[in-house]
Formats: sequence, C-alpha cells, structure tokens
Amino acid sequence: MALIVQKYGGTSMGNPERIRNVARRIRHWQSQGNQMIIVVSAMSGETNRLLSLAKEISPNPNARELDVIASTGEQVTIGLLSIALEEQGVKAKSYTGSQVRILTDDAFTKARILSIDDAPIRKDLDDGYVVVVAGFQGVDENGNITTLGRGGSDTTGVALAAALSADECQIYTDVDGVYTTDPRIVPEARRLDRITFEEMLEMASQGSKVLQIRSVEFAGKYRVKLRVLSSFEDETNQGPGTLITFEDDKNMEEPIISGIAFNRDEAKLTVLGVPDRPGIAYQILGPIADANIDVDMIIQNVGHDGTTDFSFTVPRSEYARTISILEDQVKQHIGAREIVGDTHIAKVSAVGVGMRSHPGVASKMFRTLAEEGINLQMISTSEIKIAVVIDEKYLELAVRVLHKAFGLDQA
Ligand code: ADP
Ligand code: ASP
Ligand code: MG
Repeated sequence: MALIVQKYGGTSMGNPERIRNVARRIRHWQSQGNQMIIVVSAMSGETNRLLSLAKEISPNPNARELDVIASTGEQVTIGLLSIALEEQGVKAKSYTGSQVRILTDDAFTKARILSIDDAPIRKDLDDGYVVVVAGFQGVDENGNITTLGRGGSDTTGVALAAALSADECQIYTDVDGVYTTDPRIVPEARRLDRITFEEMLEMASQGSKVLQIRSVEFAGKYRVKLRVLSSFEDETNQGPGTLITFEDDKNMEEPIISGIAFNRDEAKLTVLGVPDRPGIAYQILGPIADANIDVDMIIQNVGHDGTTDFSFTVPRSEYARTISILEDQVKQHIGAREIVGDTHIAKVSAVGVGMRSHPGVASKMFRTLAEEGINLQMISTSEIKIAVVIDEKYLELAVRVLHKAFGLDQA
C-alpha cells in the first residue's frame, strides 16, 4: 500500500463540478489500495478576491488580519471536497492548517513551516479516511493563523509528504507538467518528462509559478518524490506529467537550456550618487532586510569621483514601502544624491544544468535580445542560470525569441 499526497490547485477546485471530478480521481486512487492525503487550494480567484476586499478597506492592511481573511478560501474547499467524497462513498475528514497543527513562524503572509503533527493524520488514514488538508495555511506558536505566501498550497503538499514519508507528492494543476516555458505565452513550449531539482528551483525562483519555490526547496531537502500533473485528464488514462529528479538520477545527455522563466513581479530602485565607501551596501539594504523585504538582483557600479550608483530589485508589491524606508535612510545616514525607481521592468532567465559545461550561453542570450533591440538593464548569473532585467513591454517578445534561439520548441 502506498501513501500518496495529492495537491489540487485553484482551477482544479474552481466550481462544484470540478470538485466532483477531483473527488472521483481520489476515489480511483484509493480504490487502487493507496492511502490518500489531499491538499487543496481555494477556488481560483478567491484568494485575490479576499485580499482585494481588505485593500478596499485599508491601503495598508495589517498582515495578521490579512492571513485571517486569506486562509478562509481553503477552509471552504476542504469542506466541499470532503462532502463530495462522502457523496461518492469515500470516508473523508477535513482539517485546517491549525487543526492539523502545521506549526509555522509568525511571518504573516509569508510564514515558514517549522513542524507538522502527523499523529492525527496517521490515525485517520489507518481508520480508512481520506484526509483533506487546507493548503497555504498554518498556525504560529501563539495560535495565530498564518499563510505561507501566494501559491503556498504546493508547499503544504510537499511538507506533508515529507512529514509522513509519503511515497509520492503529486501536484495537480491546469497544465500536464512543467514546460520549457509558460505555455500561455509560448504555444510551442514543450512538456518536460523530467527536470532536476536544481533547475526547478531556479525556474520557480525566476518566476515559473507552476510550483511555489519553497515547495521545491522542501522536496529537495527531504528528497520527496515530486510530480506535476494535470487534473483535467481522465484519471484512468493519466499522462506521466513531469517528474522532478535529482541530477544524479539522470543518465541522458542534458540539454544546455531546459527552460525560460520570467516574471513581472519586481520593481527596480537605483540610489544615485552614493558615497563610495565601505559599509554602504549594508546601510542601504540592511533596513530593507530588517523590514522583511526580499531583495533580488543587486548591482553596484564601479565608483568614480568618490561616488557610485547602486541598483537592486524588490517585489513590486513592496515598492512603495521600500522607497519610504530608503528615503529615510538615505536622507539621515547616507547622503546620496537621488533615488529613482522603475516599476515597469521584467526579468527573463534561461535555466539549465548543461550551462556548466557549455560556454557561450550568455553571449547567445545577449545576441538574441540585441537583435530585437531589447536593452539589458541588469544581468545576474548563477552556475545554471542567466537572468536579465528588461523593459516590461518587451517581455513576451524576449521569452519567445529566447525559447526559439535555444531550440526549446524542437523535440
Ligand atoms: P494552481 O492553481 O494549480 O496552483 P498555478 O496557476 O499556480 O496553478 O500554476 C499553473 C500555471 O503555471 C499554468 O497554468 C501556467 O500558465 C503557469 N506556468 C508558468 N511557467 C510554467 C512552466 N514552465 N510550465 C508549466 N506551467 C507554467
Ligand atoms: N490560494 C492561495 C493562493 O492563491 C494558495 C494557493 O493557491 O496555493 O495563492
Ligand atoms: Mg499554484
């Protein structure tokens, strides 16, 4: 008997008919002799709706209360799915994050899971129940409801799979696997049979939201067998999806580039005329880190005339807060000339473990973008990734030409 964790995303849970469809799939898997833990998202659009209600009341709502509100979307779907399962003759029991006791830290809206109490779930499984758990949410040590960041149900799924040593964690969504790039942007994108954890981690962190980045981190750390599949295929004739593998599992020749990721969720800030002296980067970025704002790309130019320019990117949703922190800091301590910002940027990244052994990927990427007249505002690299920041209006063009230039549209 295998223990399987399945996570169903918002589109898969989008209306009563789809929820019935999910219940049918679960019944099928259980009837094959598997123990089933199901993690669900809120109905698609629901989390956005809930958060925008709060924003209508306050432009800057309290994060603890945002989590109280946002977590309700998943409380509805666990109940609905459990009822749908019972309707189909399957014993089911639903749990919110706090009922399971998915213990997190208290970083509201982006909490991290610290531990999971697996005992009640194991007992229910042994008693023949399908256990249905609300994704995206937990509870801190003081009993406050927390959420795990947008897309966080993936992480709930993988964390439960790790905590219960499940045989496999299956992420069901509205595409039948991980593609070479977002198939909504490039129709020629191809499904990958396998992708390494490292590559998936880069793809997710560079914007491929098919998996939340923390879910991939978790799966890598605890060696969870993770697969992305479509919930819209017939459960008796399910395709293979995409398996996230460890690099050493692979024995075939690596493609140089496995995928193109992108995001439009960042904003760029530049502090002009910063005195060029030790400690400046810390003075600029320290207060931003203290405010729990994630800084992504950072560029400091070579100084001249005793000053330099310092640019970095932050989540677009944190842009206003970052500016106000910087203004205080720059005025009071740093003495820079000016702060300028740009919220109309996008980041495009080429990802592939094959890059390690093949030089020339960066120059091919830069040439391809230059031929389209696309200016590169920032560049950053890791061993298996090259990322560039460009004007947002060229994003789709950039993704398409890079996808083609690296031969990703060809099988
Ligand atoms: P869910 O609600 O099931 O969690 P998401 O919207 O979070 O679904 O993730 C699935 C979506 O991710 C797809 O519809 C697709 O548009 C997008 N996506 C972005 N990059 C990729 C990629 N490389 N491969 C597959 N899907 C991708
Ligand atoms: N419902 C949450 C969101 O929309 C979590 C998730 O879907 O994974 O971000
Ligand atoms: Mg998702």
